[in-house]
Amino acid sequence: MKIILILLIILIGFIIYKTKKAKNSSQAYQEKTVEINENQKHIDKNKVASIESVPKETFELEIDDNIIRVFSLKKSFWDSPAESLVYETLKIFIDENYLIAPHVGLREIFYWDWKYDKRITYKVNAMHFDFVIYHKGQMMNRPALIIEVLGGDHFNEQKSWVKQNDELKLKILKKLDVSFITIDLSKSMPDEEVKKMTIKTIKDKVPSREHYTVYCPKCGSVMELKPNKTTGTMFYGCKKFHKNGGCNGSRDITKVAPLYNGINIKDFNSKNND
Ligand SMILES: [Zn+2]
Repeated sequence: MKIILILLIILIGFIIYKTKKAKNSSQAYQEKTVEINENQKHIDKNKVASIESVPKETFELEIDDNIIRVFSLKKSFWDSPAESLVYETLKIFIDENYLIAPHVGLREIFYWDWKYDKRITYKVNAMHFDFVIYHKGQMMNRPALIIEVLGGDHFNEQKSWVKQNDELKLKILKKLDVSFITIDLSKSMPDEEVKKMTIKTIKDKVPSREHYTVYCPKCGSVMELKPNKTTGTMFYGCKKFHKNGGCNGSRDITKVAPLYNGINIKDFNSKNND
């Protein structure tokens, strides 16, 4: 019995000793890590001042009452009165099969590898598009059209970062092959002019169905407009179609929700004339 007790005491003593040692070494490790991080910070600072690492540790999540409010308590949901007018106008002529989502963060639209150049990642995290138009049946696909409203800031030489952000957006959208148009509202103009400018821009820049992405009902690939070989009528054929097989998915052009055909110019004009 005594022997067991002595063994137990020795065992406990051994465990305490080990734990302490492990603690010490982990502390040493942490200190070393901090040191390396400090060095890293130093290097980064020398390289690019704007790079800061995302804090990994947890911290007090205190949110001041004044910084968060529902939009209804803010004067306007919109960044500018012009954006609100553009939205009102778009609602008139964008086909009901489409959803107009205002103020959408870039990362809601596409996947972004955060391990990429941090400076660009931070930009991408913080940026949004003014209007993103989705086909309601294809929300998981790329948007049908993205619209940016260009206020005075976009042409202000002093605000070079706005221009750079615009360039970045354009680069990304080109890579993703998403239709994109801008509405120039940099000059101040009366509300009716803003509406007219919106309509004109859509008419000029979105002249045909070819500018909208249509997806194959069979395989989900992008479709292209082509003429039927015998009748000559246009239809949407799958881009993956080829003579020796591939996908033969097709869609009747009149059955595809037409953004452009949904533009009710006549109605809008008659409203204007009233
Ligand atoms: Zn297909």
